Amino acid sequence: MSGAASAGAAVKADGYGLGADKVVPVLRDAGAHDFFVAHWSEVPEALRHVAPAQVSVLHGPVRAEDAAYAQETGIRPVINSIEQAKRWIEAGGGPCHLMVDTGINRLGLSLVDIGDPVIAALEVDLLMSHLASADEHSVLNARQLERFRTVCTAIPARRRSLANSAGIALGADFTFDLTRPGIALYGGVPRSELAGAIRQVAYPQAAVIQVRELAAGDSVGYNAAFTAAGAMRAGVVSLGYADGFLRCRGSSVLRCGEAHLPLLGKVSMDMIVVDLSAAPDVHEGDWLDVPFDLPAQADACGLSQYELLTTLGPRFRR
Ligand SMILES: *Cc1c(COP(=O)(O)O)cnc(C)c1O
Repeated sequence: MSGAASAGAAVKADGYGLGADKVVPVLRDAGAHDFFVAHWSEVPEALRHVAPAQVSVLHGPVRAEDAAYAQETGIRPVINSIEQAKRWIEAGGGPCHLMVDTGINRLGLSLVDIGDPVIAALEVDLLMSHLASADEHSVLNARQLERFRTVCTAIPARRRSLANSAGIALGADFTFDLTRPGIALYGGVPRSELAGAIRQVAYPQAAVIQVRELAAGDSVGYNAAFTAAGAMRAGVVSLGYADGFLRCRGSSVLRCGEAHLPLLGKVSMDMIVVDLSAAPDVHEGDWLDVPFDLPAQADACGLSQYELLTTLGPRFRR
């Protein structure tokens, strides 16, 4: 859907929670060449799988040591301000990326600064900007596109990039030379136009660690939030809010094959309890499927698709 543009990959936040060590080589083998992390601490993991010039750090060289580290490793810093541009040139300069803020008012060089001589002194590989409302029908999209086009005429660069996942769905005007999808690579559907094109990527599972028989009147878990109306089998599952399964997901229904297993009572730190009535063959040690269709789960629990992915806890084996 990026058309003639190539598709890079946002792999920040540990590959959106799925494990950068897993997703970077997969995306590399699928043809992605440009990889974006947010923090300097995320560089070494990416460098295990791709060449330094393929990795860029979105937060930019905030400290002198960041610029020195980029020089030492050969990764591409993203320059976000006059200060960062100076810091990069003082450290030795060389190819870098430049982020210009066209209306999100987050990171990026301000439009008033694009004519500054220190910016003209940069060797810009990728000239980019980031859309604020690409997932909505907003006047901001056209406004940012217009501003970015102006920036492109003012600042020479090898390549230009504007669109994140949702931006790709805005059409060919937005794709330029390189797109920077993140969420869509991991099963997120940020705009309805992408719905048919994206399928689920992550399939979390959790183990049953005890099966118990409840009698009428027995309550389950903290604050006795569920009480059994009659005899029933319940399964204690090794999954809780410390794994990213927050209390707002209390209406979730786990699955064992086709059987639906609703939650009973509250989500606790390390455990949930599910109704095993529909799955009489489930025993201790069996694995259950945790619902993770991102758009549907986001709608159901109120978290964003991004939050569902990036809060998957470290106890999940990737
Ligand atoms: C995170 C990020 C992306 C990817 O955004 P998605 O909405 O996940 O596709 C692209 N560009 C920048 C600058 C980002 O920070």
